[in-house]
Amino acid sequence: MIHETLPVGMLQCNCSIFGDEQTREAIVIDPGDDVPAIEAVLARHQLKAIAIVITHAHIDHVGGAAKLRRSTGAPVYMNPDDEELARMMDVQAAWLGVRTPEATPIDVAARDGDKLTVGAAGFHVLHTPGHTQGSISLWIPSENTLLAGDTLFRDSIGRTDLPGGDGRQILRSIREKLLTLPEDAVVIPGHGDSTTIGREKHHNFFLRDL
Ligand SMILES: [Zn+2]
Repeated sequence: MIHETLPVGMLQCNCSIFGDEQTREAIVIDPGDDVPAIEAVLARHQLKAIAIVITHAHIDHVGGAAKLRRSTGAPVYMNPDDEELARMMDVQAAWLGVRTPEATPIDVAARDGDKLTVGAAGFHVLHTPGHTQGSISLWIPSENTLLAGDTLFRDSIGRTDLPGGDGRQILRSIREKLLTLPEDAVVIPGHGDSTTIGREKHHNFFLRDL
C-alpha cells in the first residue's frame, strides 16, 4: 500500500494516509490539522479518500476532520463513546489556547470488531479505552501495522488524567488488545516515533507489570 505519516498541528499528531495502488482508494487517520498538507499527499498519489477515521476525540486528532470531510466527501468514523468529548471542543480549544475547530459529525460508528476495507486491505477496529472512553486502535494485518492513537507510544502510554481517562483501563486495553498482536508488528502511535509490539512488551517501563 501507499503509506505516509505526517505530523500535523501544534501538538504534532501523527496523521496517517494509506492508499491502495489499484483502486486509488485511501483512508486518512487522525487529520488533526494542516488539512492542505493532507490533501497534497492525497493529490500527489492520485488517491481518493473514502474514509476518515478518528482514533479519539481530542482536538489535536480531530481538529481538521470537518474540513477534510467537506473537501473529500469521505465519511467520518469514530467510536460513539467519545461523543461527549467531541462536544467539548470549545473546552479543549481553551486548554490549548487555540480557536475552536468546526464540529465534526460522526457519520459511521466505529466499534470493536468492525472492519473497514480499502482496496485489498482490511483495517480492523480495536476498542482500546483508557486514554479516552472512545479510544480505538486500527490493526492492518496485511501491513503488519497498528495505528495506536494515544493508547500506546514508544516508551510510554497515553495520559489518563484528562476527562474520560482511566489508568487501569488503558493497561487492560493494551494487555488484552495490543500485546496479543505479533511481536514484529509495527506500531505507529498518535505522536512521536514508530515502534514494535515486541519492543514495547519488553522495554516499556509502564507495561512492566503486565
Ligand atoms: Zn489524545
